[in-house]
Amino acid sequence: MGDAAFNQLRRNPLTGRWVTIAAGRASRPQDFLTRVLAVEGSEGRPCPFCPGHEEHTPAELGSYGLDSRWLVRVVPNRYPAFEGSDPMKVDTLSPLHARAPASGRHEVLILAREHDLRLDQLDSRRMALVMAALRDRFDEHSRLPEVAYTQAIVNYGREAGASLEHSHAQLLGIPFVPGEIDDEYRGFAEHQATHGDGCLLCDAVAEELAEHHRVVLADRHAVAIAPWWSGAPYEMLIVPRTHRERAPDADPAEVVGVGCVLRDALRRLRHVLGDVAYNVVVHTAPHQARGTYHWHIHLLPRTSTAAGFEQGTGVLINTVPPEIAAADLRDPDAVMSAGR
Ligand SMILES: [Zn+2]
Ligand SMILES: [Zn+2]
Ligand SMILES: [Zn+2]
Repeated sequence: MGDAAFNQLRRNPLTGRWVTIAAGRASRPQDFLTRVLAVEGSEGRPCPFCPGHEEHTPAELGSYGLDSRWLVRVVPNRYPAFEGSDPMKVDTLSPLHARAPASGRHEVLILAREHDLRLDQLDSRRMALVMAALRDRFDEHSRLPEVAYTQAIVNYGREAGASLEHSHAQLLGIPFVPGEIDDEYRGFAEHQATHGDGCLLCDAVAEELAEHHRVVLADRHAVAIAPWWSGAPYEMLIVPRTHRERAPDADPAEVVGVGCVLRDALRRLRHVLGDVAYNVVVHTAPHQARGTYHWHIHLLPRTSTAAGFEQGTGVLINTVPPEIAAADLRDPDAVMSAGR
């Protein structure tokens, strides 16, 4: 397990946001270099996520499979950024120095048994196991008093922060509600204040389906759009059609349906951009209710690195209008022949 003694939350008084100091993850300058190289394939070192190397991961939290072989495995992260069950108690050392224990859970979902099988290559039966595992973990986290919010992510490719190439997702159960979710709550509340009782994302889906030009794909369970406010080329937002605050509130068939739309969106992205790095971010309401929210998934291709202006202002510059991105993603073959 990681060096829990060094895991700590520290508050940035300029922004009010919490930062996690997790010294167990990479504590020497050369570790940053090996982390960059590791995703290229670590020659000589066995992949800890491959079958036959199960003893290289901490004790399993769950496994899902068919015919007595696991196809999805859930294990604790060997280098957790959040660990332990201390309650969120803020210790104010001075007006500028506030800290709290970085309690919570940090887990890895190994998405496939095969080392080289990507998320976009899973068939619907395998995708159903992935989504069942995700739903179960959200459910489990909701019962832990120290976990206020659970973030599920997939990092694919070096530019997106992946350090192992074997397909995996991560779940971070954290002891506070992050600033990004607070901001989205504000968006839902402002929309309600000006548009009667409507839900921002239910309304967005209805409008996008009516106008059609930013819709990438739509099925019974979910709609993938290139959002009006896209901050990055080919960014997508996957919105479940049924209004639910949290992913585990949805019935299993719905959750699987949303997972299949995500997979299909990834296939189209690959068709248009090739083997591009990306982040998948699942946003679901915190475990304690706080107001109107609608769970959704952000798919963020890493076509460029945030430069000084983006870092300095939080203002993103997107060089591909979402209307063009959606048209390309709807009909990837047309992009190829047009040579765009
Ligand atoms: Zn592997
Ligand atoms: Zn809604
Ligand atoms: Zn979101």
